[in-house]
Amino acid sequence: MSIMQTCPKCGTAVPYTKALWGMGTPFACTGCEAMLIIHKNYWIPLSGFTLFFFAKSGLDGWPETTVLFLVIAALVLLLSKFFMPAVIVKE
Ligand SMILES: [Zn+2]
Repeated sequence: MSIMQTCPKCGTAVPYTKALWGMGTPFACTGCEAMLIIHKNYWIPLSGFTLFFFAKSGLDGWPETTVLFLVIAALVLLLSKFFMPAVIVKE
């Protein structure tokens, strides 16, 4: 099971660049060419970034910062999958 958003039609993972930067803009699925859209929902990535910058100030050294970044990135991806599913605009 992927932690990325997937195409509801063929199950191909949506590239995260499209999921995040292409929010609100329809794009073609790379697997089946269906037109998909991810509705704008900025609170997930924004709270991820905010959390990262607040938590980062309490850490010193890059190993902790890297771990923190990876944990938050995984959390954002997971939340995005559940709260920002890709939906089919046109098959
Ligand atoms: Zn597809």
